[in-house]
Amino acid sequence: MQVFTPVLTLEHLSKVTAASAEREWHSDWGYSPSEWHKAYPIAQGNRQSPIDIDSARAVYDPNLQPLVISYESCTSLSISNTGHSVMVEFEDTDDRTAISGGPFQNPFRLKQFHFHWGTTHSQGSEHTIDGKPFPCELHLVHWNARKYATFGEAAAAPDGLAVVGVFLEVRIAKIARLHDKKLTDALYMVKFKGTKAQFRGFNPKCLLPLSLDYWTYLGSLTTPPLNESVTWIVLKEPIRISVKQLEKFRMLLFTGEEDQRIQMANNFRPPQPLKGRIVRASFKA
Ligand SMILES: [Zn+2]
Repeated sequence: MQVFTPVLTLEHLSKVTAASAEREWHSDWGYSPSEWHKAYPIAQGNRQSPIDIDSARAVYDPNLQPLVISYESCTSLSISNTGHSVMVEFEDTDDRTAISGGPFQNPFRLKQFHFHWGTTHSQGSEHTIDGKPFPCELHLVHWNARKYATFGEAAAAPDGLAVVGVFLEVRIAKIARLHDKKLTDALYMVKFKGTKAQFRGFNPKCLLPLSLDYWTYLGSLTTPPLNESVTWIVLKEPIRISVKQLEKFRMLLFTGEEDQRIQMANNFRPPQPLKGRIVRASFKA
């Protein structure tokens, strides 16, 4: 079955016309994370993300439930260049595309996913494992619709969001598979900041590894406004991407069509202090 509907419209919008809840994410900040605390003092807060995960110090918690990812329906709507990343947004009026289990009491609905990547393979991810970065990291952003009325409300609450982080590692082209090439093939449509195109029928299940073993900790958004509202689920097993596919991410621009071109890459925040937080593992090391 063809699950991907070719793009029907390509809108070149002067500004991303996203819901107001996400507008903050599109507001005027750049990738100088060491400066963010001036406008967003919470940047120096007690539960900031990302972090370095010290695998030997993570605590195995036998009470952690397996993560249940129910992405049965393909409720994707659009793909856009936010000026900071490329983002795919989902219809989130019900729990058809949601996660549950893990450390959660309620299902959390998928709102959007986006990526962080580097100019070279030696950097790009936000979380690091034992000090080691990956070339790219996927973030699937979900919200607690049982407890909060809107995504914006959830994003401001300490238990409002659940973000699943998936590492991407580069393998030689022959065996590499970012299973769905349709995603990387769609990137050309959103090269410039503020561009958005229809992107329906995409099931992000194809972006998950086989094993759903994870680390979990309490953290924050990794971009302004840096709200401390995220329960992080960082998957242990990376997925694979080819060099060619990663190059397509690096073709994107931080800048609009009229501006001087600046390559979109190194759009990651470095690891933040743990400040006494415990990282729990769903698996025995
Ligand atoms: Zn992110």
